[in-house]
Amino acid sequence: MFKRVLLKLSGEFLAGPAPDGSGGFGISPETTAQLARLITEALEGTGVELAIVIGGGNLWRGARNGKGMDPATADYIGMLGTVMNAMALQDAMEATGQPTRVMSAIQMAAVAEPYIRRRAIRHLEKGRVVIFGGGNGAPFFTTDTTSTLRALEIGADVVLMAKNKVDGVYDSDPRKNPDAQWIDTATHLEVVERRLEVMDATALTLCMDKNLPIVVFDIFQPGNLRRLFLGERVGTLIQS
Ligand code: UDP
Repeated sequence: MFKRVLLKLSGEFLAGPAPDGSGGFGISPETTAQLARLITEALEGTGVELAIVIGGGNLWRGARNGKGMDPATADYIGMLGTVMNAMALQDAMEATGQPTRVMSAIQMAAVAEPYIRRRAIRHLEKGRVVIFGGGNGAPFFTTDTTSTLRALEIGADVVLMAKNKVDGVYDSDPRKNPDAQWIDTATHLEVVERRLEVMDATALTLCMDKNLPIVVFDIFQPGNLRRLFLGERVGTLIQS
């Protein structure tokens, strides 16, 4: 059983369906409420200390949306997007009765606490879910690196990389290749060498250097998140 866990959520998990049925955009209160319920129910009675890093891809990705802009500015816009997501998730989680704190890497005193490592740990010890917004507070990174960095800082046992409709890691994209082979476990080095899709290379290297286990799993498969919190094997496990 895990004591402390870092859960990485993509910003897209908060988006509603687009009017044309394609990939969603923005923040849907209904979708966010469903996700919050799923997390609170999974957590109930487990005693697991949970920290969440939320991405911003539903609103803005520096490299995709900021074409023609100063790349650093484009990335800062992306980081601000993650704070919006963090606030939406906080609102939805507190509506389920789960106390939370949003901590932002970019100071925004009116809406979020500043990220202070020891304070984050204190919140976790008190049973609050800590939601990290603002990424690393530095451009040229993604929230994958934030997940790894914060997990190491707070002493998390594992990084849970939540996916939608993908139940773990394959040797190629199962949505494009019907012969894609499922991978149950792999070492960090194998993931690097085989270029398996787990998280971006900077984040993965940090996990490898610090020996931090990663689980890639489908968060929307009923029961998966709770089983993980209880220490059961779900999805693909990456460890050294
Ligand atoms: N970002 C950044 N530094 C960070 C984290 C995020 O510059 O430490 C910016 C970057 O532009 C990124 C955007 O914020 O594209 C949204 O984050 P991400 O793409 O990781 O979101 P996700 O795909 O997980 O929803």
